[in-house]
Amino acid sequence: MATPKVDMDTCIGCGLCTELCPKVFELRDDKAWVTNGNACDTCDCQQAVDSCPVTAISME
Ligand code: SF4
Repeated sequence: MATPKVDMDTCIGCGLCTELCPKVFELRDDKAWVTNGNACDTCDCQQAVDSCPVTAISME
C-alpha cells in the first residue's frame, strides 16, 4: 500500500494536510510530518495530495 511522503524543502507548513488527514500528518516546526502513513480512513490521503498548494506530498 502506498504511503504519503512530504518533501520537507517544499512544504510551507500551511497545515492543510493535517486538517484533511489528521491521523496521518502532524505539523512540527512548521513542516508536515507523516506520523502514520497508513492511517487515513477516508481518502487514502489523495485529498491531501491534490490539495497541497505546493505539491509537496507524493505517494510512494
Ligand atoms: S498541505 Fe503541503 S504545504 Fe501544507 S503542510 Fe501539508 S505538505 Fe506542507
